[in-house]
Amino acid sequence: MTVRVVIGLGSNLGDRESHLTAAIRDLGRLGELVAASAFYETAPVGGPEQGPYLNAAVALDSNLSARALLDECLRIESTHGRERRQRWGPRTLDLDILLDGNETIEEDGLKVPHPRLHERRFVLEPLLAVWPQATLPDGTPVATFLPAVADQEVRELVPAGQRALTLAAIAFTAAAALGLWWLVDWLVG
Ligand code: ATP
Ligand code: CA
Ligand code: CA
Repeated sequence: MTVRVVIGLGSNLGDRESHLTAAIRDLGRLGELVAASAFYETAPVGGPEQGPYLNAAVALDSNLSARALLDECLRIESTHGRERRQRWGPRTLDLDILLDGNETIEEDGLKVPHPRLHERRFVLEPLLAVWPQATLPDGTPVATFLPAVADQEVRELVPAGQRALTLAAIAFTAAAALGLWWLVDWLVG
């Protein structure tokens, strides 16, 4: 059966953007990619002192079991050189299964929904970006957890292409306004 799955991505070692971009492409092979969030620059929460993270989330429609998805996530992490030296330490790539349809799983090495998703703004923001109506299996809307974590530092990055388009639009509007002003000045003068 195909269900909607949300996977959270994080990276704070090496070329963070490349790790996330390549991982999103790899995750897209595990089902039908429904949405991928922007990248968010976020302050580390817990663990040792370490550099800032890039976080994102993808929504997939997949017929893989949660266990098969976890195995794939761990495999993709290792192709990115993920090492586990200390809990919540820096990492090239972290892939967490946040939601798997309406399933609740409490097994050794696999807990879904991800048990700490509600306390992390760096997880909630991208998750809600790809699936605004997401709920926990008990029906609680995920969005209800956001106000309690509003003090955590999370900044959405504007993609370079979109930034270039915005700058071009501003430049075009300014040039048009200047041209109009000259025309009016010439007509009345
Ligand atoms: P956190 O789970 O608090 O985000 P982390 O991502 O740094 O911490 P990892 O070292 O990446 O933790 O993962 C440790 C183990 O967590 C994995 O080997 C995996 O078996 C287990 N795990 C349990 N539930 C999940 C889940 N929903 N998604 C991914 N891994 C999970
Ligand atoms: Ca994690
Ligand atoms: Ca993890």
